[in-house]
Amino acid sequence: MSIRFKVILPYLLLTLLVAVTGVYVVTNLVTNTLSERLTNQLLEAGRVVSDDMARLEISHVDAARIVAYTRGIAEAVAAGDKDALRALAMPTASGLNVSNLFIFDAQGQEILHYIQRPDGGLAEFASQPSVDFDAFVQDLLAKQDAESPPQRIITVDPVDGRYYYYTAIPILLNTRNIGAVLLGTPLDTILPDLKSTSLANIILYNDAGDVIGTTFGARSADPFFISGLNISPEIYRKVQQTEELVNGENLLVDGRWYRLARGTLRVADSELGIFAVALPLEFVLETGTISRNTYVALFTLAMLVVILVGYAISRIIIRPLSSLVDTSQAITAGDLTRRSGIRSADEIGTLANSFDKMTDRLQGYTAELEKKNKMLGQMDETKASFIQVSAHELRTPLTLIKGYAQMLQQKASEDLELESLSQGILDGYERMAAIVNNMLDVSKIDSQTLKISLGSVQMGLLVMQLQKDFQTAFKERNITLITKGLERLPLLKADPGLLKKAFYHLIINAIKYTPDGGEIIVSGRVLANNPHPTELEIIVEDTGIGIAAEHQDLIFEKFYQTGEVLLHSSGKTNYKGGGPGLGLAIAKGIIEAHHGTIWVESPGCDEENCPGSKFYVRLPLEWQAP
Ligand code: ADP
Repeated sequence: MSIRFKVILPYLLLTLLVAVTGVYVVTNLVTNTLSERLTNQLLEAGRVVSDDMARLEISHVDAARIVAYTRGIAEAVAAGDKDALRALAMPTASGLNVSNLFIFDAQGQEILHYIQRPDGGLAEFASQPSVDFDAFVQDLLAKQDAESPPQRIITVDPVDGRYYYYTAIPILLNTRNIGAVLLGTPLDTILPDLKSTSLANIILYNDAGDVIGTTFGARSADPFFISGLNISPEIYRKVQQTEELVNGENLLVDGRWYRLARGTLRVADSELGIFAVALPLEFVLETGTISRNTYVALFTLAMLVVILVGYAISRIIIRPLSSLVDTSQAITAGDLTRRSGIRSADEIGTLANSFDKMTDRLQGYTAELEKKNKMLGQMDETKASFIQVSAHELRTPLTLIKGYAQMLQQKASEDLELESLSQGILDGYERMAAIVNNMLDVSKIDSQTLKISLGSVQMGLLVMQLQKDFQTAFKERNITLITKGLERLPLLKADPGLLKKAFYHLIINAIKYTPDGGEIIVSGRVLANNPHPTELEIIVEDTGIGIAAEHQDLIFEKFYQTGEVLLHSSGKTNYKGGGPGLGLAIAKGIIEAHHGTIWVESPGCDEENCPGSKFYVRLPLEWQAP
């Protein structure tokens, strides 16, 4: 993941989280406030209903009193004079615009019953039995109390079958209770009034919890709908026992949701049943949805802005970093002239500045190194051509020296002293010729003109020949050469002369750097390590002074000596006898010309404990000479 995403992603997730939480919280707040408002409105509607009913009650009582106190009515009731009563009550009731009027005698017998016709006039109806009325009127008359307060009931008129809200007062004659007047207003007219003043739909329940009237318009005639509104006795009891309105369920009517609240319908000291007020919920729901949508849109917009700003900021932060990365990649690829060029006062600026300075220095060092390397290359070339020239130049005088020394030796056959002198010259010649030959070998390796004549080499035989060549040295220095597993080695395709030369140098070194009485072990094995070609591994191991780790690579360079060489002028197989430092360079050149590898392993240089050295040579068994 790129750093840009690492910066932006947490920021993005955080913004998303804040936005979602924000929308949730704000929408909830709005919805909560709205539901609170709705509850308040329901309470208010409930209060308005109670007030309206109280007002209606007052107008009922006033009208009933006018009827009851109309002169002559009490006497007519007491006398049971229906005609006189009719003549008195009818005009009074008409004038009062009464909807429903009953007059009972002292025994609770119905004397008169008027119901208002649709044209406004009153129609008289004959008595119809009604259990509700009987009980209610008997109760009223039983009180026999002139001061007894008005009584109320909501019940069905036995004649027209409509629900009425009735108020009853006693008719008094000489402070005696001689009858009762009942004045009723139909629920059909009360409910719309209540609806228009409370601004809520109304439902009225009787004491069984059944709906006896509702303002839910057309649906009020639908018996299934109405019975669906009935409430259980538990709810009824709960509402009855609570002073305040009780929040009810939500109700779906004609595709609109309403919230209900119920309360006891109380008029003065009478409990007439239970009413419910219903306010449309869609206002809350709609406003909730609208506010949620609005806030979602607002927060989305804000989030987009925040993301864009974040992206822009991250770009500003990351651009210099990207440029620094590009620069570092270019420098890694070798373009040391590249610089970041970032000049800012922040941490990235400091980093870029240090980076540029570092590159400046690196460029400086590299230039210096390149210069020195070039010089070294030139020097190496000079050295190589010096070796080549001097080796060639030395060969002619050396041949002369050899010739004259041999002639001198022949002539001095009688003179022992002269003979030994001339032998000395010849020995010197041998050493010098060997050095010159080494120099020639090195220059051939350097100029890659070493000629390889492939033949078959048996390593066992090759080492045996060398063992023979160094016989005198082994004897003089009391060094034992042991071979291990060489005889079993397969034939090697190589230049026998060159390979012998390479192992000559390894063995002569082992002799030189091993104290008297030591051992040289030459071992060999076949390495069939797939997928690499099968190789022979020859190890020349000695019990000599060993080689320090820091010299182990360098000793294969020409003229490199470790500095521990003491006796440069001594014999070539003497302990720590010197040499020009060409032996390992030649051995390496020959082995590599055969596509082989050579290296040394040694625990270090220690002349006292003699940890020894192991020279490893690996040569492929088969290869094609170029
Ligand atoms: P030289 O002519 O000095 O022997 P070489 O190239 O053969 O040159 O060896 C280089 C140096 O490597 C020697 O001077 C010697 O210090 C070290 N060296 C080579 N072989 C051995 C060995 N078997 N044990 C310890 N040191 C060795």
